[in-house]
Amino acid sequence: MQLTTTKKSGATTQECPDMGKLIILTGPSGVGKGTLMRALLQRHPELHYSVSATTRSPRQGETNGKEYYFVSRREFEQLVAAGELLEWAEFAGNYYGTPKEAVVNQVLSGKRVVLEIELKGARQIRASYPSALSIFILPPSLSELEKRIRGRAQDSEEAIARRMHRAQEEIRAADEFDIQIVNDDFETALNSIEAAIFG
Ligand code: ADP
Ligand code: 5GP
Repeated sequence: MQLTTTKKSGATTQECPDMGKLIILTGPSGVGKGTLMRALLQRHPELHYSVSATTRSPRQGETNGKEYYFVSRREFEQLVAAGELLEWAEFAGNYYGTPKEAVVNQVLSGKRVVLEIELKGARQIRASYPSALSIFILPPSLSELEKRIRGRAQDSEEAIARRMHRAQEEIRAADEFDIQIVNDDFETALNSIEAAIFG
C-alpha cells in the first residue's frame, strides 16, 4: 500500500500552517461534504484533496486510493504508531485518518489542500495548525440530514442511528470553526465554500 508521495528533504508538518493553505471541511456525516467536495474539485482541479485512510469497508462504487485508502485495523494502528497520520479519529466504529506526508508535500509545493474530516480530527488540526481555514457544513434540519443519509442507501439501520446520534453532537460544535455554511440549496453552499477558500 502506498499512502505517500515523494518526500521532500526537510519537510515538516509545522511548515504547513505558515503557508496558510490547509483547509478543513467538516460537518456531520450525510450533510453533503463529499458531494460538495467533488463539485469543488471539478471547478478547481488545482485544489488537492487529501485521500484519507479508513478501516471502514468500501461502499459500492468506491475504489481504493480514490475515495479512501481502505486498510485493516492492524495496518491503521501501524500508521498511527509510525506517526504517519496528521490526525486520526474513530467514527461510528471505524478509524479514519489523514496521511501526513502527502499533505505536507502538497502544501509546500504551494497547493491549497482540503481535508474533509469529522469533528475530532478537525479539532486536532485546528489545535496543531491554527492558521488552517476551517469550514463547518450544517444541514438545513436534522430531519433533512436523516433523509440524506437514508437517501444514500449505504448504511445499515444501526449505522444510521450512530451517525444521527453523532451528528447532533457535531452540530453543537459548529461555532468552533471559522465559517459556517448551511447546505440547503447546493449551488448556494458551493458558491459560499468557493468564496471562503478563494476570497
Ligand atoms: P457526507 O460526505 O457529508 O457524508 P454526502 O456528500 O455523501 O455527505 O451526501 C449525502 C447525500 O445528500 C447524498 O445523497 C447527496 O447527493 C445528498 N445531498 C448533498 N447536498 C445536498 C443538497 N444541498 N440538497 C439535497 N441533497 C443533497
Ligand atoms: P464516511 O464513512 O461517510 O465516508 O465518513 C464518515 C466521517 O468520517 C465523515 O464525517 C468524514 O468527513 C470523516 N472522515 C473521512 N476521512 C477522515 C479522516 O481522515 N480523518 C477524520 N478525522 N475524519 C475523516
